[in-house]
Amino acid sequence: MAIQDPIEEGLASGWKHIDASQLNQGKTLEADVVIVGSGAGGGVAAEILTQAGLTVIIVEGGPLKSSKSFNMEERRAYPNLYHQAAGMKTKDKAIGIFQGRAVGGSTTVNWTTSIRTPSQALDFWAKYKSVTNLSRNELDPWFKKMEQRLNISQWGYEPNRNNQALKHGCEKLGWDFTVIKRNVKGCWNTGYCGMGCPVNAKQSMLVTTIPSALALGATLVSRAKVMQLEHHDGKITAIKAQALTEQLTSTSIELIFKAKHYILSAGAIHSPTILLRSCVTDPHKLLGKRTFLHPTLLSGALFDDPINGHSGAPQSIYSDQFVWRDGADGELGYKLEVPPVHPVLIASKTLGYGKSHAALMDNFNQLQVTIALIRDGYHPDSQGGQVHLTDTGFELDYPLADVFWHSARRAFASMAELQFAAGAKQVLPMSEGMPYLNSWKEAKLAIANMELAPLKTVVASAHVMGGCPMGEDLNMSMVNSFGQSHYYENLSVMDGSIFPTSLGANPQLSIYGITARNATRLAEQLMTAS
Ligand SMILES: Cc1cc2nc3c(=O)[nH]c(=O)nc-3n(C[C@H](O)[C@H](O)[C@H](O)COP(=O)(O)OP(=O)(O)OC[C@H]3O[C@@H](n4cnc5c(N)ncnc54)[C@H](O)[C@@H]3O)c2cc1C
Repeated sequence: MAIQDPIEEGLASGWKHIDASQLNQGKTLEADVVIVGSGAGGGVAAEILTQAGLTVIIVEGGPLKSSKSFNMEERRAYPNLYHQAAGMKTKDKAIGIFQGRAVGGSTTVNWTTSIRTPSQALDFWAKYKSVTNLSRNELDPWFKKMEQRLNISQWGYEPNRNNQALKHGCEKLGWDFTVIKRNVKGCWNTGYCGMGCPVNAKQSMLVTTIPSALALGATLVSRAKVMQLEHHDGKITAIKAQALTEQLTSTSIELIFKAKHYILSAGAIHSPTILLRSCVTDPHKLLGKRTFLHPTLLSGALFDDPINGHSGAPQSIYSDQFVWRDGADGELGYKLEVPPVHPVLIASKTLGYGKSHAALMDNFNQLQVTIALIRDGYHPDSQGGQVHLTDTGFELDYPLADVFWHSARRAFASMAELQFAAGAKQVLPMSEGMPYLNSWKEAKLAIANMELAPLKTVVASAHVMGGCPMGEDLNMSMVNSFGQSHYYENLSVMDGSIFPTSLGANPQLSIYGITARNATRLAEQLMTAS
């Protein structure tokens, strides 16, 4: 069956796309609005602003790829579609970070779990982070709008065996669990979402809002890395970008973008980095601080029957049993999910080397993996990380505090209990020195005494948030509750960097809904002004 390629068709129909790697001299482009980044925030903003009748340029550092090149191979997907070839790490290398770098941003490679912002997060932001007008009632219509736009609905098929284990464990223990809503249309249930959807079923920005904006006349400039914002007297006057090569290395070709309004949607870490590089006003030194990751722990479990966690929708069940149990600012809660189990991904996140690692990978198809995403940014001792500029770019310093390790131990115990309840023969908490554990009784004791430490314990993240927080109090926020800069009248930030804490839920739908609200308001303001 032939698979339609909406990107190829759109380009043939005359979309305005400039691949900056093909330029041999600099260029200046102008529009009503310039958007930096084409992921969850940038994609939604681009569609809404073009629909309102504004001219829009989207500047994206990554390449424009399409389903034709998504061949389900990790060795191609990671270097082509992820920042730092999926090898990004925190300063001390203790946390591995996945972030997309391609048109569509992280939505091109994400796993499609779609969850509205939890009420506990919204209430916390209103009470402690000076965020206004973002209550459950005010936001729900925006989530509904984006759920309809992106075909978000509950996964109707049988969960794959990896997710079934999570479900069975919860059922046995009487723990809460939920069937996940996914942004897919005609999903083939392949399980390769993380390598770019080969059949265009995932309703990522790559196949929804970006094509819609381009069909309405927007311009997309890919392989162009925004370096800094020029500003004067409380206004942004231009954006300067560097054309990249096909391999995404630097060139000396400079692109200049001018607009009435500028939107940063480069994602957490990168939007703050661009602002830091631009030396923007930041009297309270907030930029890049409080960057959150939902630092995530892994527990492997061997089952007798094949799990084949690489096959089928990667995430279809989650458990919120422990996320808010001790109150928002109590002990750090954790959400239980499973990841897709692909060989390179899992080999890089498991333990040992040589023979022991080979033995682990020998049992690859019997391996179930459960993850615990720790909810950071609420407890007073959970302040997240800080982005710093370096000679070559940026680094994220994210110290893992005692309060994190305390929750990590609880999370490892919950995961082991769940996996044994689901029928696991052996459980392996992913932390150096841990043996295979043969029963819940044995695991309970071993986990209570296990050594937890940076670089020993595997910690990963696919949820980067914060660093440019929203709110009304200038002492704790860089943009207002609609994402508009406190200091530059024609600058907004629309991406995951504006969250004042992590979410305790997978972030994409929060970014879609909040951006839809903020971009709609901005479009009204800009249209009225013109
Ligand atoms: C492997 C993986 C799985 C995930 N699974 C899920 C999931 O199932 N559910 C969920 O809710 N969330 C998931 N996420 C997270 C979710 O996709 C992100 O939180 C969301 O896409 C972030 O949106 P954003 O707009 O902030 O940034 P992004 O979507 O990351 O977009 C930012 C864009 O800006 C570009 N950019 C950065 N710097 C520059 C620059 N200087 N110049 C030009 N362009 C620049 C980047 O290349 C990128 O394309 C996953 C993420 C990953 C990586």
